[in-house]
Amino acid sequence: MNYELIIVRFGEITIKGRNRNRFETMLLDQIKVALRSMPSLEYVRTYARVYIHLNGESYENVAARLKDVFGIVSFSPVVRSEHGLEQIRAHALQLIRGLDKTPATFKVSVNRGWKQYPHDSIEMNHLVGAHILRNTPGLKVNIRQPEIELKVDIQHEAAYVYCEIVKAIGGFPLGMNGKGMLLLSGGIDSPVAGWMAMKQGLRIDAVHFHSYPFTSEQAKDKVITLARRLAYYGGKFRLHLVPFTEVQTAIAHSGNDSLTITLMRRAMLKITERLAEQNGALAIVTGDSLGQVASQTLGSMNAIGRATALPLLRPLVMMDKMEIVGMANRIGTFETSILPFEDCCTLFLPKSPATNPSVAQVEKAEAGLGERFLQLIEEAIEGTEVMELKDTAESGVESQSTVKATPEDDWF
Ligand code: ATP
Ligand code: MG
Repeated sequence: MNYELIIVRFGEITIKGRNRNRFETMLLDQIKVALRSMPSLEYVRTYARVYIHLNGESYENVAARLKDVFGIVSFSPVVRSEHGLEQIRAHALQLIRGLDKTPATFKVSVNRGWKQYPHDSIEMNHLVGAHILRNTPGLKVNIRQPEIELKVDIQHEAAYVYCEIVKAIGGFPLGMNGKGMLLLSGGIDSPVAGWMAMKQGLRIDAVHFHSYPFTSEQAKDKVITLARRLAYYGGKFRLHLVPFTEVQTAIAHSGNDSLTITLMRRAMLKITERLAEQNGALAIVTGDSLGQVASQTLGSMNAIGRATALPLLRPLVMMDKMEIVGMANRIGTFETSILPFEDCCTLFLPKSPATNPSVAQVEKAEAGLGERFLQLIEEAIEGTEVMELKDTAESGVESQSTVKATPEDDWF
């Protein structure tokens, strides 16, 4: 089919009042970022919609990218027609014939936006519908539950004909709800948590703790690959790589065996909180899922979560593993996540980690680590390396560069 434009629809129910304008402006910006490799596209914004004029670009290429833009509810490929009844009929018939599978039932819904048009919408429904019926053997009209609803939108400049509605992700435009730091391990869960946070309008920076040389370069590369995949959804993405070896070693040698993981997680949160301050973020996102392992029982979450005053967002907290795996597959992180490289925490895993650590006990053990421990935390923050990962749509590959962190940024 030779589509000329795409109608993009936004969430109409969730956003009200002044936020709506902000939503629409941010979403249009995101769409332009996602489609920046196709400069001939033109955009027209109207109430709760954007029209993208393809100007010769392939509909399939644009559609593939739009499916992954947060904030879009659905979109439709549209054929533009001259106003004449015969032209509209011809285009409508061509659309029905061009469908992969001929439907059994249909209906026509005409919207007459241009009131000077000689036929009103009810007349037009019949005039167009009858033409399609006459020329499509076996097809029937079903007003209540049609398999296909053929829409004709008559505007002053032209008529627009379409029948396909492609569902997109929905959610909020990236960044609309602020910024958070994502704790990104090499596992299955945290990339999914990051994607969900982004879908809900949170721009994120990722933070990864590594214990080089106990953890390998490959383990680090794996995390970079995961972060790049998230960059595909976010346009740009920062990854903070925190050297955690000294902090972990101090904890592991402190004689608090069953609390090792609790103390490590608290140290991660403390470091991340400082990185959040430096980078203008107001939340920490993790891949925790209730009950999954010892560090994710309610007791552990309580003892660990107290290490930070920032909101701890856990998008996966009530999801089971199968659901999470399904999502990891859909967003394209699963294959990387299951590569067998060690994580800093598994290396230091004690034989019997506490599943219900007491807050008082944890605080006492932490205080026992002394000034030296605080010093090590400072050094880990100081030694953090920052990578800027991009999804460079122009070349189809992502690039990376190491940059110095700046407080807030003017990305996009
Ligand atoms: P994942 O599959 O994401 O690794 P998990 O099921 O393995 O999660 P844990 O290893 O207990 O669970 O980690 C819980 C959460 O803590 C992770 O989802 C992640 O947000 C954070 N986390 C764990 N290890 C690291 C790390 N090395 N760097 C950054 N964050 C981490
Ligand atoms: Mg893990």
